[in-house]
Amino acid sequence: MPDLRELYQELILDHEKSPRNLRKIEDCSHEASGFNPVCGDKVRLYLACRDEVVVDASFEGSGCAISTASASMLTQAVIGKRVDEIRELRCRVGEMLTASPGEHTDIESMGKLAAFSGVCEFPNRVKCATLVWHTLDAALGSKEKSVSTE
Ligand code: ZN
Repeated sequence: MPDLRELYQELILDHEKSPRNLRKIEDCSHEASGFNPVCGDKVRLYLACRDEVVVDASFEGSGCAISTASASMLTQAVIGKRVDEIRELRCRVGEMLTASPGEHTDIESMGKLAAFSGVCEFPNRVKCATLVWHTLDAALGSKEKSVSTE
């Protein structure tokens, strides 16, 4: 049986090589930008919401493998979900990414996003993974529409 960590690495590399939903939504209802100066990752997130459901999500940007894969998987994870479900998912992702090593809770329920569960062991890469989630907060909330991890 292949190592779970290897599977996760493959998943991240696959999303980096061929990011999903890498495009702009011209008539989006929500958008925001994020920047991680530590690594130089930039992301612009687009959401199209209808009746509190995200019917489409996409991103543009440039950054390292982790930030690109994180944005790609975020768009896949939120499409078809209600905004309140997305907020709940975002909380769980935040907990997973900032957990102490070995403290992982309920990774099974995270689906593909569990690929990032190992990132918390590399504190300098956590911001690469969380950038797009902070950007999601900005897009959905009343916060500044441009966020920085610093
Ligand atoms: Zn990065």
